Amino acid sequence: MATSQDYQSPKRKSYPTMSQPPIKRFMRKTKRVGDCLVWIGYLNPKNGYANFNPTTRHVAWGMAAHRWIYEQKHGLIPAGMFVLHKCDNPACVSIDHLYLGTHADNMKDRTRRGRSARGETNGCARLTETAVIEIRWLSSQGSSGRAIAQQFGVALYTVQKIINRKTWRHV
Ligand SMILES: [Zn+2]
Repeated sequence: MATSQDYQSPKRKSYPTMSQPPIKRFMRKTKRVGDCLVWIGYLNPKNGYANFNPTTRHVAWGMAAHRWIYEQKHGLIPAGMFVLHKCDNPACVSIDHLYLGTHADNMKDRTRRGRSARGETNGCARLTETAVIEIRWLSSQGSSGRAIAQQFGVALYTVQKIINRKTWRHV
């Protein structure tokens, strides 16, 4: 018996990833970094959040990946509510690190994150050797320094120094 697969045009087959279930495509764009599940796909340049297109069409827009994955487990996010990160890493899409909060909670989180990011620009004490290896690996795979800095919540120059082996030379 003929299946719908048989009627796919060759052109359609040139986008094999789009025919996969969204959750599978989602997971392919993540990488475990410590406890976090870090998004290695597109990051929204405006806010550093992971961006995901859950539809099967090629579209120019997507939605915040952490909000999408949250809805897969908990159902629709109530209007006006925010999905926040326990781990302070906006690029993290680990379901265990996400929780629902209000706009006020979101603002509080941002302020806290801003503070800790500033503290860290003094050095790279908080980064572990594993993170350093990860940063160099991501860079070798073509990730931009900016994207990596966002993923690890550190300053761009901290990442650049690691990549150029100005710091952490022993790793
Ligand atoms: Zn996380």
